[in-house]
Amino acid sequence: MAQSGTNGSHPDGLPVDESGPASTTVAAAAENTQGPGALAARFGDHKLSLSSLSVHADDYINNHRAVAPPLHVSTTFRYNDDPDRLRAWDNTDDNAPYDSHIYSRDSAPNTTRLEAVLSALLGGPAVTYSSGLAAFHAMLVFLNPKRIAIGGGYHGCHGVIDLVAKLTGLQKLELEDPAALATLQPGDVIHVETPLNPTGEARDLDFYAARARELGCYLTVDATFAPPPLQQPFSHGVDVVMHSGTKYFGGHSDLLCGVLAVHPAREERHGWVRGLRGERLFLGSVMGSMEGWLGVRSLRTLELRVERQSASAGRLVAWLDGELRAAQKDGGGGSTSPVAKTVERLQHASLQPEAAQEGSWLRKQMPRGWGPVFSIIMREADHARRLPSKLHLFHHATSLGGVESLIEWRAVTDKNIAKTVLRVSVGVEGWEDLKEDLLQGFTALLDEDKSRK
Ligand SMILES: *Cc1c(COP(=O)(O)O)cnc(C)c1O
Repeated sequence: MAQSGTNGSHPDGLPVDESGPASTTVAAAAENTQGPGALAARFGDHKLSLSSLSVHADDYINNHRAVAPPLHVSTTFRYNDDPDRLRAWDNTDDNAPYDSHIYSRDSAPNTTRLEAVLSALLGGPAVTYSSGLAAFHAMLVFLNPKRIAIGGGYHGCHGVIDLVAKLTGLQKLELEDPAALATLQPGDVIHVETPLNPTGEARDLDFYAARARELGCYLTVDATFAPPPLQQPFSHGVDVVMHSGTKYFGGHSDLLCGVLAVHPAREERHGWVRGLRGERLFLGSVMGSMEGWLGVRSLRTLELRVERQSASAGRLVAWLDGELRAAQKDGGGGSTSPVAKTVERLQHASLQPEAAQEGSWLRKQMPRGWGPVFSIIMREADHARRLPSKLHLFHHATSLGGVESLIEWRAVTDKNIAKTVLRVSVGVEGWEDLKEDLLQGFTALLDEDKSRK
């Protein structure tokens, strides 16, 4: 990474733990027999599947015969009884070497297990935060760029940038404007959200990775809308992957969580996780233990949930799109389809032209599905406002990623969005049932129109 010296404090300049090769080797050997690497080592060349990692990546932390993880709510942890073993910020418990803690603003048992599983699933060491926006904030504090290029997408991240700008003068540039991108300096950040909120449309990570390398910038990605197994941002050269774990990692609409994961090569060279954890101690934005416990419970089924949700979304979008196309072929106006009469168009990665092109960047980036969120743009704002109240299987609510299907008239939470936009988050219900529910909803809108006339 080129260093220009234009930025005050680069994360690459943080002191990396220089504990020396001898102790590192000893620690690595221990890790391979009992630590985070132990499970993979037992399987040799056989690579464990995502779901096997979801269920077992935290086994090395378990020091109890209980199969299900315990919930520890303690904020503080007893020191060693032996005064000769008291050290600064070291409270290693011989009975639980990987589950040793001091104070829960630094680390705690349930969030540590959650981080262990997330690290395995994301393919790089992961640090958790109290929410997605807390994670994004921590990332900006850590990387401390002078400029950040960011596109549309989740409006909350723009709110965080405004707060940081108030303190540091951070400048915001438009990601999709090539001239703006060209003004970035080494140490600045290119932040890509993909797929995008609320449209569910994807952006080309390889393209932005190449720009980041040319410019000496960090590439960070908000991958909330396509968690594993849908997308592997580290294989596209992303430096930091961010998630609102509130969505698919939590998966049950009952916890707030944010995640930052660091590219393993960058971690090896620069030890960013140590820096992130050190700063989190002072930001104070840690997850609660109950949330950590719920998070581990949820991750066990991540692949099952996300694959089904994404496949169902793909089927629903294909059905809706088919209705619109059929009506267009018939010359539009005369169509009797309740979908064609009420829906203007759809937005989803599956409908991007590259989704149909063999070997396209989109197919390479999302080989296992196009994500469970899409947008319906209605012909009339009034229909968009009224449709959610006609549905029986979709809750009318914000957020996404839970087992329950949600639909949101997006104007309720995003003041800059067109009043015709409905965002759909597909849950784990049967997709045929969801289709039936939408169909009766569109029909009910038209019936209501008729009775009003
Ligand atoms: C929800 C969301 C966030 C914010 O996450 P919180 O957990 O609500 O703080 C950030 N980015 C995207 C894409 C989101 O959907």
